[in-house]
Amino acid sequence: MLQQRRCHNDNHGRAIIKVRFCSTCGAVLNSNVKQSQCPDERHAKMRRLQSTYCMDCGERLVRER
Ligand SMILES: [Zn+2]
Ligand SMILES: [Zn+2]
Repeated sequence: MLQQRRCHNDNHGRAIIKVRFCSTCGAVLNSNVKQSQCPDERHAKMRRLQSTYCMDCGERLVRER
């Protein structure tokens, strides 16, 4: 695995993962889940939930300063 950094997101430890990407580190959790194109409002909603990455398309939601 390329991801060396420990991620605190619970998704990594789950046996059944229904999302493609980790919302915290952006790593692919389940490559069997189809990558989808998200409408902007979906990303806006995730941003409000303080997700750094989109769980569906892996896009970074928080801009680096
Ligand atoms: Zn993670
Ligand atoms: Zn997305």
